[in-house]
Amino acid sequence: MPRPMYDLSFTALEAEVVASGLRPVHAKTLWRALHRDGVEDLTERADFLPPLRRWIGERVSGAGFSIALPPVRSETASSDGLTRKYLLALEDGQEVETVLMGYPGRHTACISTQAGCAMGCVFCATGQMGFIRHLTAGEIVAQVLHCRRVLRAAGSDGLRNLVLMGMGEPLHNYDAVMAALEIITDRRGINIGPARITISTVGVVPGILRLAAEQRPYGLAVSLHGATEEERATLVPVSRRWPLDELIAVCREYCRLTARRIFFEWTLIAGRNDSAETARRLAVLLKGIDAHINLIPLNPTESYDGAAASADSARAFQRILRDAGFPATIRQRRGIDVAAGCGQLRAERRGA
Ligand code: SAH
Ligand code: SF4
Repeated sequence: MPRPMYDLSFTALEAEVVASGLRPVHAKTLWRALHRDGVEDLTERADFLPPLRRWIGERVSGAGFSIALPPVRSETASSDGLTRKYLLALEDGQEVETVLMGYPGRHTACISTQAGCAMGCVFCATGQMGFIRHLTAGEIVAQVLHCRRVLRAAGSDGLRNLVLMGMGEPLHNYDAVMAALEIITDRRGINIGPARITISTVGVVPGILRLAAEQRPYGLAVSLHGATEEERATLVPVSRRWPLDELIAVCREYCRLTARRIFFEWTLIAGRNDSAETARRLAVLLKGIDAHINLIPLNPTESYDGAAASADSARAFQRILRDAGFPATIRQRRGIDVAAGCGQLRAERRGA
């Protein structure tokens, strides 16, 4: 089996190149071609010096390294054309979703970190699948390269923001995610600024503490969905493992250690977590935290009978948070016509 070259950090690639007797400068050339230029065929590069060409001829083929990106299994676009969703096929046949959203010049890619998810949030199509496996760093990087290739083919190279809000729980796959983000932020390569990257977590407490301890420079979003333990645990089963009180205490600690703002994600479900009383409780819960709350009306999924909160209750919820001093936005349900919710495209294809 060939080894995906996108799994390698710059240092690891350099070590490979140097171990073959080449000068380190060739690693830089190769890295730029792969990550900055996103080339599909390394043999086409006329600017490569003969030793690098030879190395590529020997090593980037057969059982050596592979630079192929995962093929697109299916693709859908929203009717407004602003959201495109790709189902990418991995080496072992697993499929993950990557979504590209935005306007020319400022696109956001939403990428997956696992096939399936172990966290089991009841309203989430990925949670309903269960856990299949972690993605490798290279599989995470490849999704970003795929998005840039699509944008470049359309004459735009404006991939500016990255959110880890596709399938899976990023902090359950911590090491591969951090390795991927180091590659994605490398200035010689893809070069997406760390401040333009947001990691979204269901609330994996040890992972949040580790992000703070390691002073990782990325944005953090915490999916809350409930303002009391009881309300949250019915939607987010892992709340029993990392209870709400503990999670909020850790969020405070994260803010103290990093001086960063936290985004809180809140899927609004009619009659479950969209009341004025819940909004007031949430405001009390988050008191003193530098928080921005994103309200996301539920995208209905096959195995969950909840419905999206009405526009009126979403606005009322937002008003209460704003009156309490919190920035709160209602995320547009962009591309609902392309099954834009997390994991929904794959679930649809499987007839789940
Ligand atoms: N596992 C991480 C990141 C992936 S999910 C997390 O849970 O944060 C990204 C966001 O989409 C989460 O806030 C999640 O609660 C939300 N989400 C999942 N399914 C949804 C649905 N059907 N409708 C609305 N939001 C959903
Ligand atoms: Fe996993 Fe996030 Fe879906 Fe929950 S919402 S099941 S944590 S992907």
